[in-house]
Amino acid sequence: MSLAEVSPDASEEQYHLWHPFTQMQKVLNAQNIVVERGEGPYLFDQNDKRYLNLTSCLWNAPLGLGRSEIIDAITEQLNELSFAALFRTAHRPAIKLAQRLSEIAPGRLNRVFLTSNGSESVESAIKMVRQYFHHTGSKKYKVISLLNAYHGVSYGALAASGFAEDQQGFGPMPEGFLKIPAPFNRDRQSEEERAAFEVACAKELERTILAEGADSVAMFLIEPVQGMGGAIAPGQAYFDVISETCRRYDVKLVVDEVTTGFGRTGTLFASERFNLDPDVMCLGKAISGGYFPLGAAVATDEIWDVFLSDSDGTRFNHGSTNAGHPGACAAGLAAIDILTRDNLIEAAAERGATFLSDLRQLKELQVVDDVRGIGMLFAIDLVRDEAGREPLDAAAMDMVAKACYARGLWIHFSGNRILLLPPFILGDEHFAEAFAGLKRILSRVP
Ligand code: PLP
Repeated sequence: MSLAEVSPDASEEQYHLWHPFTQMQKVLNAQNIVVERGEGPYLFDQNDKRYLNLTSCLWNAPLGLGRSEIIDAITEQLNELSFAALFRTAHRPAIKLAQRLSEIAPGRLNRVFLTSNGSESVESAIKMVRQYFHHTGSKKYKVISLLNAYHGVSYGALAASGFAEDQQGFGPMPEGFLKIPAPFNRDRQSEEERAAFEVACAKELERTILAEGADSVAMFLIEPVQGMGGAIAPGQAYFDVISETCRRYDVKLVVDEVTTGFGRTGTLFASERFNLDPDVMCLGKAISGGYFPLGAAVATDEIWDVFLSDSDGTRFNHGSTNAGHPGACAAGLAAIDILTRDNLIEAAAERGATFLSDLRQLKELQVVDDVRGIGMLFAIDLVRDEAGREPLDAAAMDMVAKACYARGLWIHFSGNRILLLPPFILGDEHFAEAFAGLKRILSRVP
């Protein structure tokens, strides 16, 4: 079938491109946006229409687009060494990045396994912890994670994720993945009720470990703040309970900081903010400022030590060709330099707090059920009407999305939720533009 028969509007060049998590029929039936270029906080499409980037391109680009400092670092590196793999041999940018990450990583984290994306980081962490226990002669292998969590697309990461619909049609998931409730309740609660509910959720971890047998549970995998799940940030008591439980039963605490890492929640890592002492931390997305695919699973010496011996039998049997690409490492080093040098995180967190109090005004609108946020991460839950609290349906959400794009606001949508993950470089005028646009659009939803 030719493209003209499917859609007279879509351009021929888009016909062969299959988008992730996208119903392609919708793309083929509509005039699709092609992003042609990016500059700082803006994206420009094929008609040179300008969009304010309120998603940091899916959490990836908090430093904005087109920063010559990072691009130059990548170019310089590619001119010097365009590629070398990390199987047995090293290269300079990977060594430097591993050093840098171990310097800035929280707590006992010290050993850096490089990957190419967030899913691969989570997959690496799961396999690392399972193999760690295998090498110690333990039978621990089960993974406990949260409902409503997103950890990625490879089978292990997917099995640990909490969105049932994402697992549909892929056959049986790997064995040994268990879920406990996320610390989030749509009921309207007082602060005290909320805190008590969160602690009850945290206690589910111990209950599940005991029900399964502590000798079978290897790790607890958690996003400190659920991102895709809708900016779910429990209080400190929640983290105190899960940390203590992990310690008591020798369950490794694996913290997925793919979205929270590199400043999103107001500190370099959310683990610092919540006093977490992870055994493994998963990184991705903003680690390279979005300038090159990159990720990492950063582990403690305790985990690393168990893999050391004279035999290949205890090596970490895992890795992929492009992980730790020299260009990616150069991008990572440059991005971390900018982030830590320019005081961007603290400034962004301050602006974020102001933006959150603005966004909370939107709760007055019929269509807005709840507004949550932390640092530079915000979620707005939309409902058919505030009294009934029935989630806004897909067709209405499509209309909201279209209105945002038409107004030049680049926003992320998940179910009945708007997610805003602005770059850290936005100024007051950008937040004012975003707020005015959203208010106008949401006040017109019928
Ligand atoms: N972990 C979390 C918390 C994520 O939000 C994501 C992606 O959104 C991933 C892991 C997977 O990262 P990637 O899409 O780079 O594979």
